[in-house]
Amino acid sequence: MRLCRSRRRAGVMLFLLLGSSGGAAAQGVPHLADIQRCERLALVRPAESIQIAKPLLARQDLSNEARVMVTACLGLARLGEGRAEMAGAVAQELLSLLDDPQLSDRVRWQSQLRAALLFNRSGKIQDAMDLLAQVQAEAVKSGDPKRQIAVLVAIGHLRSQDFDDPEGALAYFRQAYGLDRRLGQPSGVPSIALGHDLAYTLFLLKRYDEADPLLAEADALAAGFPELVSMRHRIASHRAEIRRVGGEPREAEASLRTLLGKFRETGDVPGEIVASQRLARSLLDQQRAQEARPIAEQALAGAERAGMPMEQRDGLYLLADIAIALGDAGAAADYAGRARALDRADGREKTAQQLARLQAQAARELQPEQILARQDAARTRLLRDIGLGVLAVVALVALVLLVRTRRQKHRLAELSTTDPLTGLANRRAADGALRALTADGRRAALLLLDVDAFKTINDRFGHDIGDGALVEVARCLRAACDAGDVVARWGGEEFLVARGDTSQAAAFALAEHLRRQVERLRVDDGRGGTLPLTISIGVAALPVFPHGAPRWQEAIRVADRALYVAKRAGRNAWAGLWGLEAGDGVDVYSVLDHPGHALEQGWIEIGGNRPMDWSLARSRAVGSVPVGEAVNKGSVRRT
Ligand code: GH3
Ligand code: MG
Ligand code: MG
Repeated sequence: MRLCRSRRRAGVMLFLLLGSSGGAAAQGVPHLADIQRCERLALVRPAESIQIAKPLLARQDLSNEARVMVTACLGLARLGEGRAEMAGAVAQELLSLLDDPQLSDRVRWQSQLRAALLFNRSGKIQDAMDLLAQVQAEAVKSGDPKRQIAVLVAIGHLRSQDFDDPEGALAYFRQAYGLDRRLGQPSGVPSIALGHDLAYTLFLLKRYDEADPLLAEADALAAGFPELVSMRHRIASHRAEIRRVGGEPREAEASLRTLLGKFRETGDVPGEIVASQRLARSLLDQQRAQEARPIAEQALAGAERAGMPMEQRDGLYLLADIAIALGDAGAAADYAGRARALDRADGREKTAQQLARLQAQAARELQPEQILARQDAARTRLLRDIGLGVLAVVALVALVLLVRTRRQKHRLAELSTTDPLTGLANRRAADGALRALTADGRRAALLLLDVDAFKTINDRFGHDIGDGALVEVARCLRAACDAGDVVARWGGEEFLVARGDTSQAAAFALAEHLRRQVERLRVDDGRGGTLPLTISIGVAALPVFPHGAPRWQEAIRVADRALYVAKRAGRNAWAGLWGLEAGDGVDVYSVLDHPGHALEQGWIEIGGNRPMDWSLARSRAVGSVPVGEAVNKGSVRRT
């Protein structure tokens, strides 16, 4: 059971989060209290953090310094929400604000580091690395050890979170921590946050003996800062978990029960969910599985509501362990199966992210030789400015670049088959997969899916939100399909799903299932509401007629026409046309030209989730159906 994972867990980012507005340079910045509140909430309650940031940014009279800090906070909150793409866009904005010569040095470089982190998380590795190299060079020039420490920590964060490698990150955190302590009294917020980050990294690595005293130290130092109260609660939760693992489940239980109340008070939902799971574990350790069960069930429901995949996965494994303790092997297998499915989904997501990054990089034709040249440049710089800590900084930047090159080589081959935005197979890969699907001579179902009124979504909410919606729809389709199904991005806001060896009834049922799953999706519109997301689907058999050659272009043509019929029926709909045994001379074209006749002759079956006008199958140009046109205007959203 892995209770702790680095990715997307809030803990390890504290240094970058708390380093800025806590600094002396920020004194005198207007709205400082709001900005600090925004930062405190960014990873704990990102939605609230965004609510603070947005009105501030809308103010005409906001000073640029404050604007920089609020924008950085908004980016971190987007990360807190798990919306890396949007975070990347915010980083771009942040950078453009940094041109102002009036800006204090400290705010500038701290914002650059934050922007580097945001870029990296959103797949813009090259931008992140360039920025990091720039801050590093300036840190060297300035001779300011604080800046150098900050660069070390930034590299540590990248390594821990983005390369999913806390082991590798440890050296950077240790070095930064050592330098920081050598500088003097570790009483400021950034120093405390750094101590916390090092301790949390050790905790992730299950090096509890080393982690615990450092957590205790961070906690004691944080006691003087009311803004660090959420961090202190989380530290207490980690320490309770350490006690549980160390064989003191009763003590862990007592402290977790107290903490749960505090998490609820402060509204720290992730903190509460993790603590609940730890509490259930401590009960399980005491042979109190019966009591543990409702707590674990609630924690799972909470993780599902909050959209925290890792905590969901942990929660399912926990419930599996509880079911075993209660002697219910069936339930245990069910929970474990669901947990593994999430593991797989997580793996996919991770690959998608990495691929997206590499794609961006490949687009710029970055060659390994160039990376080596950069390393040489770094070495030259090193010879020029030898100073304390600098050596490490330069070497470490080079190391990150090396890690990246290695991974890049591995992944480059996969790039041409994967859609960088959604991580799904692209059109080219789908082509091959369709061939494989029909190789056994059985008929497959082919579905073309098109997001409804997507142009309106882009127009109303912006392209980034549109991109996010596509990612969510892709994820939803992948989750709603079986492992063996082909799920691909066909282009723009169109997707393709294909399932081998499938009957007409099963194909139509699949279409209805997918339509409903997308209809139920709740995707944030970035303004506190949810997007009006639905899809329309066209279904065809592949091959279109039994015993025909599996020419998938023909099946696509049929599915495309069916999709058009569904659109004209008011959207949020599916329509299917399934070829039956038909005489010689009956082909796809004649059927599409005269569907009514084909139906009468028994050459085809048709279906849909509501009555539809199949005479429309003759015409084409799905994109030309006006959204909300007189046909069924009221039913665009409802079925
Ligand atoms: P309909 O219900 O008829 O399908 O209406 P629609 O607005 O979805 O159809 P239309 O084909 O007119 O518009 C599709 C839009 O999808 C236009 C295009 O800008 C947008 N789009 C395509 N690819 C992407 C993408 O990768 N990201 C974003 N944000 N938008 C995209
Ligand atoms: Mg379209
Ligand atoms: Mg569309």
